[in-house]
Amino acid sequence: MRKIYSRIRGTTDFYPPLSSFFYKVTQKARKLFEIFGYKEVILPLLEEESLFRRSVGEGSDIVSKQMFKIESQDIVLRPEGTAGVVRFYLENGLPKKGDFWKFFYIGPMFRGERPQKGRLRQFHHIGAEAIGSDNFYLDGEIINLALSIVKETGVSSFSLEINSLGCREDKEKLSIKVKELMKGKESMMCSNCQKRLVVNPLRIFDCKQQECQRIISSLDLKDEYLCQRCKQEFSNLLSLLKDLNIEYKYNPYLVRGLDYYTNTVFEIKSSQLGSQDAIGAGGRYNDLIYNLGGKKTPSVGFALGLERILLLIEPYQEESSLKVFVAYPQPSTFPQAYHILNHLRKNNIAAEIDYKGKSLKAQLKYSQKLGALFTVILGEEELQQNCAIVRDMNKAVQKKVALEELVPFLKDSLSSLS
Ligand SMILES: [Zn+2]
Ligand SMILES: [Zn+2]
Repeated sequence: MRKIYSRIRGTTDFYPPLSSFFYKVTQKARKLFEIFGYKEVILPLLEEESLFRRSVGEGSDIVSKQMFKIESQDIVLRPEGTAGVVRFYLENGLPKKGDFWKFFYIGPMFRGERPQKGRLRQFHHIGAEAIGSDNFYLDGEIINLALSIVKETGVSSFSLEINSLGCREDKEKLSIKVKELMKGKESMMCSNCQKRLVVNPLRIFDCKQQECQRIISSLDLKDEYLCQRCKQEFSNLLSLLKDLNIEYKYNPYLVRGLDYYTNTVFEIKSSQLGSQDAIGAGGRYNDLIYNLGGKKTPSVGFALGLERILLLIEPYQEESSLKVFVAYPQPSTFPQAYHILNHLRKNNIAAEIDYKGKSLKAQLKYSQKLGALFTVILGEEELQQNCAIVRDMNKAVQKKVALEELVPFLKDSLSSLS
């Protein structure tokens, strides 16, 4: 038996029409990045493993369970985009070239964990990073941009949840507070959370176990761990969101388990996604660049899951890009038809031909199936007169056109249709 291979579990084959939806989603995102002034970076999929240990954090789910590691080397397939952008920013001396940068990226990310519904091994992120300002208006821009992309791609129902973790000192206070509140409840938590409570209590918020979630949501969390400055910034941001007519829900339990977050954290959710309900997430990382060897540089960003967006949108209307089908009633005229096909393509007319020697009737049917607007029929008789029959596929009328007039005639006819 010859083996039929399957794709690796947790990966996706994008083929038409899904591949064109994929393209359109990224196109809509690119358009908005342009409007908001973000420039694209295309970075390697491979990075040093320790980059993520020092940014996302030792002991986080991503680093401890989900890294896709190249055997026996300090190399992983990137699990997320932010750390790589910061690595690139520092390595290329960008801090010396400017004090404010805005980047976006679109590309695959990898998680080496057992795939489950909504959790893929290879998935795509649409992400942005704004580096070099702690102005809360910039948080507003990042949130606005993320929501605009979600809306523009056609997701109709989603919500924004927001919280502030405060600065490093505030996060420390929150961590101690959580530890205190959890006293006596440790034994009810899963074994993972019991470890988390010792190493980094804030990580318990990432636990997906129902019982852990229930206990966490019963904790009396308020924003009193925030220092005066962080509290003010957060309240400024919330009023800005109101001004921008952006609806949000303050969620004190939104504590993202990635080490690098400080201050603003947010999540965009859709109830239609089930238990993995995040379309995307983001926040501030004011200490990350410092932690990775740079100067203290306040920054903010987000990442959206492209596959999650694809699950939520209505299929886009498929438009055929094919304009002209070249048909040959007799096999003898194929070489000339092939020549004319290339002539049309050279003149930027999307054209197609049948390579399988179908009958004229079958060729016309094929032309229709492909969505061609015109079919150029090249029979022996027409070619002897240096002519072609041009059939308007929608009106089902046809006309004889001189071969030298063919390109201008088709261009005129096509432009009158659009
Ligand atoms: Zn603070
Ligand atoms: Zn747990």
